[in-house]
Amino acid sequence: MFQEYSTPAFEKKYTYTGNDLGHQWSPEQTLFRLWAPTAADACVCLYRSGTEGTDDLIDAIPMCADVCGTWVARAEGDWNGTYYTYKVSVGGKTVESIDPYAAAAGVNGRRGMIIDLRGTDPQGWDKDTPPIPPRSETDNVIYELHVRDLSIDASSGIDAKGKFLGLTEENTATPSGHPTGLAHICQLGVTHVQLLPIYDYGSVDEAHPEKGYNWGYDPENYNLPEGSYSTDPYNGSVRIRELKQAVLALHKHGLGVVMDVVYNHVYHSFDFSVNKLVPGYFSREDANGKLSGGSCCGNDTASERSMVHKFIVDSVNYWADEYHLDGFRFDIVGLIDVQTMQEIIATVRQKHPHMIFYGEGWDMATELTKPDVPLAVQSNGAMVPELGFFNDTIRDTLRGSIFDRSLPGYISGAPVSREQLLNCFRGVAGWNQSPTQAVNYVSCHDDLALHDRIAQALPQATEDEIARRSRFAAAFNLLSIGVPFFQAGEEMLRSKKLKSGKYDSNSYRSPDSVNSIKWSRLEDAQVQKTLRYYQGLLALRREHSLFRIADAAAAERCISLAENTPEPLTVFRLEDKKEIILAAFNPGQDGVNLSLPAGSWQVCVTDEQTDAQGLSSAQGEVSIPGISAFVAVQAKD
Ligand code: CA
Repeated sequence: MFQEYSTPAFEKKYTYTGNDLGHQWSPEQTLFRLWAPTAADACVCLYRSGTEGTDDLIDAIPMCADVCGTWVARAEGDWNGTYYTYKVSVGGKTVESIDPYAAAAGVNGRRGMIIDLRGTDPQGWDKDTPPIPPRSETDNVIYELHVRDLSIDASSGIDAKGKFLGLTEENTATPSGHPTGLAHICQLGVTHVQLLPIYDYGSVDEAHPEKGYNWGYDPENYNLPEGSYSTDPYNGSVRIRELKQAVLALHKHGLGVVMDVVYNHVYHSFDFSVNKLVPGYFSREDANGKLSGGSCCGNDTASERSMVHKFIVDSVNYWADEYHLDGFRFDIVGLIDVQTMQEIIATVRQKHPHMIFYGEGWDMATELTKPDVPLAVQSNGAMVPELGFFNDTIRDTLRGSIFDRSLPGYISGAPVSREQLLNCFRGVAGWNQSPTQAVNYVSCHDDLALHDRIAQALPQATEDEIARRSRFAAAFNLLSIGVPFFQAGEEMLRSKKLKSGKYDSNSYRSPDSVNSIKWSRLEDAQVQKTLRYYQGLLALRREHSLFRIADAAAAERCISLAENTPEPLTVFRLEDKKEIILAAFNPGQDGVNLSLPAGSWQVCVTDEQTDAQGLSSAQGEVSIPGISAFVAVQAKD
C-alpha cells in the first residue's frame, strides 16, 4: 500500500535536507517546520497544557506548503512553555499528532512543548566536557543500568527513588553503611554507564509510575526524555533538566554515559507520530501491506527511506549535542541499514570524537522496502568498523546456549575446546574485524541474570558454588580482549527470582520486587567477596595493556595457548616487550597443579581474591583449585 514511499521518484520529490524540522524558539517568534508530503493541509495547534484531551486551545495557526513536502508556520512572540500539536488532513481524515521532532512534551508525550532549551541547562552545564577522551574501545568497561532499578529498593538509601535525580545523589549507603547508587558505581572501575531507555517510552503511565514497570523498549517520542523518571512529568522542561543533572553527576565522577536507543521499532505502529502524519511511512511492510515484524515488536522501522534515515541521523545527533552523551547502544541494529549507521557515526564523531557506538547485530527476518540494502548485522561489520556488536559467541560459550536455558556452558561444566576458548579470549569471534568490535558479556537485561542462569543449569548448586562460578565467569569475561560489559548488579550476584521460586528470564514488565537492585545483598559475605573480585579484575585490566589489545593481528601475535598444561586447564600466555602474563582457567571440580615457567611470578588472581599489584609471589608448581581462575605476571628484564 505504501510502496510508493520507497520509489526514486517519491524520494527525489520529497527528500528535505534542511536542519530545521520541528520548532525553533526565540523570544521574538517560534518557527515550525513539518514534513508531511501526503497531507492536503496542516496547522499548528497551541495549547495551555500538555495533557491530551484538555480543552484549552489557544490558537490554531495554518501552515503553508513549502519545499520538499514540508509545511511551515510562524507564531509571533515568546511561546516558551506553550504546548502544541500538528493537525493535518490526510487520506480524507483529519489527524492530530505530536511533532515527531518534539524536544519537550507534556505528560505521556501526547502534546509537544515549545522550549527554550538553554533554560533547561543545570548549573555548570556550559563547562561540562567529555570525561573520557577518544581512545580504543577496548579501554572501556560498560555497566548496563536501568534508571529505576538503581534506586527504587528501600535498601538503596536514595531519596529520589526511580528518578533521574537518583543518579545524582552522592555518598548514599545501606543502613549498615555499604555504598549504594552512584557511590557504588564509582568504586567499581567501570568507565561508562549505559542507561536502558531514557527517551520517552509509552508503556508506563507517567501520571502513575508506581502502577507499572517497564524496561522501556517501546518508543513513543524519540527526541525527549521519559517522564516517569522526572519529578514532574506534566512540565516538559523538568525531565530535560533532571536528565542533564544525571549526566553531569556521572561526568563529574569521570563516568561516560551511553544511551540505549531503539530506532528499529516503535510502541504502537499506527499511533506513532510519523505514521499518523504520513500514514505508514516509518514502518516496513511486505508486498501484501502487512507490517514487517523482525524486531518481534510488530513493526520494523524503514530506515532505508530517505526521511526515516534523516530522522534517525538527526535524532542521534540531537542527543549527542544537547545531552552531552558519550555513546549509543543500538537495540537490534541488525534491522537498521548500513548507510544510516555510517552516517550517524560520521556526523556525530565529527563533533564528538570520543563517542562510542555498539549494538545488537542480530540477523532478523525483515521486509526491506528497497532492493540491495545491506543491514548492520555482525557479518557486515567490515562496512561499519567503528560499530561494536554484542558478542554472542563468548556469551553462549561461557554461560550456555541462549536457546536452551537449562544447558550448561563452560562456566557450568560443559566441555569447550581450547581453540574455541582461545578465540573467545582473543576477542576474535569470527565475524568481527577487530576486538574493538566485540562487546563481551555474560549478562545483560535480556534473558536470565548470570546467577540465575548458573542456578538453572545446575539445580543442585549451593549459593556458594553459584558465587564461585560467577567469579570464574567474570574472570574470563572481564580479562578477555574486547569491550567488557556487564549488567548492573552482576558484581553483587544479582538475581531476578520470582515468588514461585523460578527465575525471571524476561523481566521487561515485572514488578520492582523482581527488577530492583537489592542493596541489602551487600550484607552477604559471598556478595562482598564477589564485588571485590570484580573491582580487582578491572584494576588488573587497567594495569596491563595486554588485556586491552585493540587489533586482531596483535591479539593473535601476543596471545597463545600455553603448551603442555594438564587437563582440564586452559592456560593463555600473553606476552609483549614488557611482560608475560599467564591466565589459567580450571572448569573442573578438583584442583590441578600447574608448573609455572622458570622465574618468579606475581600472582594477581586466585579463586577468591584479586589484586592488580600482586597477592603473592610464586615459582615452580602452583595448585589451582576447582572452578577458578589464576593469573600470574612476570616482568621482563
Ligand atoms: Ca513516557
